[in-house]
Amino acid sequence: MQYRCPKCQSPKIMPVAQSGGPAVRPVVPKSLVLLIPAVFILLLLVLISIAMWIFGDGAGTTLQSATVVVFVLCLIAGFMFYRDLPDFKISMQGFMQSQKKWKCRECNHEWEI
Ligand SMILES: [Zn+2]
Repeated sequence: MQYRCPKCQSPKIMPVAQSGGPAVRPVVPKSLVLLIPAVFILLLLVLISIAMWIFGDGAGTTLQSATVVVFVLCLIAGFMFYRDLPDFKISMQGFMQSQKKWKCRECNHEWEI
């Protein structure tokens, strides 16, 4: 199994949609779907809090409690994702192996396995 471009040896390769037959997609765990936006919201809340501390009289209680709630949500989602990780890895490996056509983003070379 080759995860590099055979032409320029670049690891920047991407799967090409296969014609005929349904595309095999990796199963993305729900915890990851929850974790990514939760982390973004947490970062945003933290940034707003910092900005309010610098430019105002500090973050309001609503903002503080929202930050704590989102932080706890991130912890829960992170823990759930940690438990889903082995399954996710197997699913990703299955996807990589079933994918026959690849394209290099570096030199646009396309090949089949
Ligand atoms: Zn290449």
